[in-house]
Amino acid sequence: MNLTWEEENRPIDLHVHTTASDGDVSPAGCVDEAKRLGLAAIAITDHDTTAGNAEALARGAEVGVEVVPGVEISIEYPPLTAHLLGYYPEPDSPELEAILNGLREHRGERNPRILKRLAELGCPIDRDELLAEAGGGVVGRPHIAAVMVRKGYARSLQDAFDRYLAKGAAAYVDRVRPSPEAAIRALLAARAVPVLAHPEAMGARSEREVEELVARLAHAGLRGLEAYYHGYSAGQVSACLTLARRYGLLVTGGTDYHGAKKPDIRLGRGPEGMHMPYRLLAELKRARERL
Ligand code: AMP
Ligand code: FE
Ligand code: FE
Ligand code: ZN
Repeated sequence: MNLTWEEENRPIDLHVHTTASDGDVSPAGCVDEAKRLGLAAIAITDHDTTAGNAEALARGAEVGVEVVPGVEISIEYPPLTAHLLGYYPEPDSPELEAILNGLREHRGERNPRILKRLAELGCPIDRDELLAEAGGGVVGRPHIAAVMVRKGYARSLQDAFDRYLAKGAAAYVDRVRPSPEAAIRALLAARAVPVLAHPEAMGARSEREVEELVARLAHAGLRGLEAYYHGYSAGQVSACLTLARRYGLLVTGGTDYHGAKKPDIRLGRGPEGMHMPYRLLAELKRARERL
């Protein structure tokens, strides 16, 4: 398929969270927001779930925004915060569902442990309050933080993280995550294109540390890097582009939109206020066809 220059440069956003995980805009609402902003396409990449994809796809077809189904999975690679994006997973892949179910079941054990610690620290929250906050989506620390703010235990979401919920803070409980290889294997089994999310925002102390992970993932079947990401400097983008070239990976771009939960992130607005062009998605689709 040949795209015109204009088509190749239409704005897109390939990293969007909805109420199915920790965003506060529904899947259909995200599509509407994309339409309002004039985006040609968005990808739904909720943490640990593909539950928002169907609603977004349906709305996209109605309003004329291309919707890419996807998911975001945290992987075990201490001390980095490493996340994989998977684009176009087949809906009922047993391998991928097993990983996602495992991650969600684990949250069902972890969240009560966090609440128990918070209660011991003088910040009691009950389970129903937390479930109501998550509104039926995957429940995580951002929801706990929101309840804490509402109950006056913290001044802001960031304050709740800094004092209680961040890694190493008083009420932190670690998560169990799949290995990089297991996560990539599951994504490939579902014919999803595996891409490393925000390589420059994993808490690495050096480019070398980033490259070690990229090398290991590339060996396991990684196909791309998220080189354009909300808040990246030109230098960070170029570090990602260099790595992508070195390991033969495609590049994608997304903002990590979470709605009003992360008010500084605007749908579709990439590094340095630039937009991310549709040609990144065209390349991603070619990679999907080759899987
Ligand atoms: P969970 O999936 O429950 O471990 O929560 C992970 C989410 O919490 C991430 O997607 C971020 O949105 C948020 N988060 C994690 N660490 C921090 C932090 N130090 N400050 C603010 N938000 C954070
Ligand atoms: Fe998140
Ligand atoms: Fe992430
Ligand atoms: Zn994300």
